[in-house]
Amino acid sequence: MVAGHFGFAAGVKTTEPSAPLWALMLATVWLDVVFAPLYAAGVERLDPVAGTRGGYGQVIIHADYTHSLVGAVVLAVLFGLAGALPWGPRVGVVLGAVVFSHWLLDLVVHRADMPILPGNAGGLPRVGFGLWRVPAASIAVELALVIAGSLLYWRAAQQVVRTASADDKRRARLVAALVAAAGIATLALDVLVD
Ligand SMILES: [Zn+2]
Repeated sequence: MVAGHFGFAAGVKTTEPSAPLWALMLATVWLDVVFAPLYAAGVERLDPVAGTRGGYGQVIIHADYTHSLVGAVVLAVLFGLAGALPWGPRVGVVLGAVVFSHWLLDLVVHRADMPILPGNAGGLPRVGFGLWRVPAASIAVELALVIAGSLLYWRAAQQVVRTASADDKRRARLVAALVAAAGIATLALDVLVD
């Protein structure tokens, strides 16, 4: 579910043009970025679903801090505050919301492995609707996010740069194409490599 997050970020860029695209892209995968060092340290884990090789969507993700509801809110607030420093409070709020959107999108695809409290304190029920059980459906959702995000971005870029030079228009189209290509390539890698 990395490609889908990127598509979402490209779509958000169209409603908040002053937020840099790279910052939106980083915000959308921030929970996974923080997951990486915790995974390396053995604090968070990925386990293949029993009887599978752990391919696309075939993992139980024990990301009990970064992907807990409360942990995601904390990481979103911190990211938003950091973004507010250079770009102002409005962009900070958008970036924080985009960080949290990762948790909501993951909620759709993850099997019920996402805790409410960090470290699954209190042993509350874990959540996740498990769309990954139907790989074709979750691939379709991710692809739709990538295509919708790139299209929105391309259209907004056309409007923003209507008065701009031909060079700027070409650049905007190129970025939209890159967003689409990167999203589709990421999804393809995710699906094919296991
Ligand atoms: Zn994630």
